[in-house]
Amino acid sequence: MSDFDVLKFWFGAICIGIVIVAIREFGKYFLGGGGPSTPYTPMCPNCHSHNTGKITAIKRVLEHSTFGWASPSSGNTFECYDCGYKW
Ligand SMILES: [Zn+2]
Repeated sequence: MSDFDVLKFWFGAICIGIVIVAIREFGKYFLGGGGPSTPYTPMCPNCHSHNTGKITAIKRVLEHSTFGWASPSSGNTFECYDCGYKW
């Protein structure tokens, strides 16, 4: 193994490392939240559950078409899946 081969090996190893980190950061960015161990979910102000989620635009449109502008999600951003509270 020549010096050049050693250099090539390390260069390749570093490149692979950068790609792995980049994929991980990209995944975090697109999946949302701060990593798999601590995904961001707001606490329900009603029952203090973390089983909550953002009310999606599709859901809003569906509710608007069902209930009109007095829909239950109107003006709310988050929804609790445990007690159904919206805020
Ligand atoms: Zn709740």
